[in-house]
Amino acid sequence: MTHIVVHPAPGPSPISPQELLSWTVFAGLLLLMALYFVGAEQGATSLIQGDAVHEFVHDGRHLLGFPCH
Ligand SMILES: [Zn+2]
Repeated sequence: MTHIVVHPAPGPSPISPQELLSWTVFAGLLLLMALYFVGAEQGATSLIQGDAVHEFVHDGRHLLGFPCH
């Protein structure tokens, strides 16, 4: 006689508050960088020479209502 035994797969482990804080800070920095490149790059505080960044995020800039031209 055979028995079929099914073991449940281990679920994802819960994230600790310290890990959650570090991921939140990391995501916040990424969002701030994205906000800077969409909203302020190619202005008075340009970090990258040329207009490649401006052209890449140009439609997003207009979509989000940042002043452009
Ligand atoms: Zn524009």
